[in-house]
Amino acid sequence: MSENYYLILAGGVGAAKLIEGLAKLIDPELLKIVVNTGDDIELFGLKICPDLDIITYTLADLVDKEKGWGFIDDTFNCLKVLKKFYDTGWFNLGDKDLATHIYRTDLFNQGYTKAQITDMICRNLGVKAHLIPMCNEQVETYIKTPTEVMHFEKYFIKYHCDPEVLDVEFRGINEALPIKETLEYIDKAKRIIICPSNPIVSIGTIIQVKNIRESLIKVKNKIYGISPIIEGATVKGPADKLMKCIGLEVSSVGVANYYKDFLGHFIIDNKDCNLKPEIEKLGISTYCYDTLMTNINKKQALAHFLMTLNE
Ligand code: GDP
Repeated sequence: MSENYYLILAGGVGAAKLIEGLAKLIDPELLKIVVNTGDDIELFGLKICPDLDIITYTLADLVDKEKGWGFIDDTFNCLKVLKKFYDTGWFNLGDKDLATHIYRTDLFNQGYTKAQITDMICRNLGVKAHLIPMCNEQVETYIKTPTEVMHFEKYFIKYHCDPEVLDVEFRGINEALPIKETLEYIDKAKRIIICPSNPIVSIGTIIQVKNIRESLIKVKNKIYGISPIIEGATVKGPADKLMKCIGLEVSSVGVANYYKDFLGHFIIDNKDCNLKPEIEKLGISTYCYDTLMTNINKKQALAHFLMTLNE
C-alpha cells in the first residue's frame, strides 16, 4: 500500500533548489529526503557533511541563497585564524556554520550515529522534513588527477574542478548500509524524486549503498528524475568531467543511460526536447520543461510540474 509521503534522493546545491520549491507546495513533514554523504569530510578535527548541511539550512530558511550553501550573513573570522594553523583553510567554513560541525562532532564523540545526529540538528533548527543520510558508515569520494589523488572537496573547492579526472573512487562504499527507514520509504512512497544533482558523486553514491538500487528497480514506475544537464553542460559543478571520465555522454541521454535501470520518468529541459525520442527508446517516459531554477518562482513551477505529472 502506498503512503502519502514523497521520497527524494538528493545531493547538495542542485537538489536544494528543487527541495525549496517542493517545500512550498507540500507539507514538509511528507518529505523524506535521503541525502548523499559521499562528500563528507573531516577537517580541523570536525565532522563536516556538506550536502546534509545545504539541505538542512535550505529547509530551515537559513541558507545563503546567493552561494547556495552555508548560513546567510555568515562571517569567516574563525577560518582566518584556522588558516594560520592548518593547510586545509581552502574549505570555506563560516562562523555560524562552525557551530553545526562542533555540535555534530560532539554528538559523534558521544556515540550517536550520523542518522541520529541529523535528526537532532534538524529538530534544533526547526526542520520538519525527515532528512536521512544515505548511510551511517563513512564513505569518502576521491578523485584521481594526473598529479594527485585527492578528496572530492579539495578537487571541488581548492582546485575549482580544473584538473583532468582520471578516476573516481568511493572509499568505504562496500560497507555502506541504508538507514532502516530508507528501504521502507522506497517501497511505500507515493512518488520518488531524483533531484537534479550530480549523477556520479551525489545520486551515484546513494544508489551504490547496499540494496538501494535493487529496491528502486522494483518501483521504477513511480520514480521521477530531473536532468542536471542542460544543452550538454552542467549548470554548476563537475558533473560533465565525471560523466566523461566514466564513459558517459555529457547530455540528458547520458544521465538517462546511467539511471535507466530504475528511472521510470525523466524531465529534461525544453532546450533538450530534441533528445526525448532517444531517451524514450531506453524505456523512460520523458517530458520537457524549463528546469533552470534561477528564482523561487521557477523552483516552485518545476516542483509543481513534477508533482502533478500523471496525477
Ligand atoms: P552539489 O553536491 O552541491 O554539487 O550539488 P548537487 O549534486 O545537488 O547538484 C549538482 C548538479 O545540479 C550539477 O550537475 C548541476 O548541473 C545541477 N543543477 C544545479 N542547478 C540546477 C538547475 O537549476 N536546474 C537543473 N536542471 N540542474 C541544476
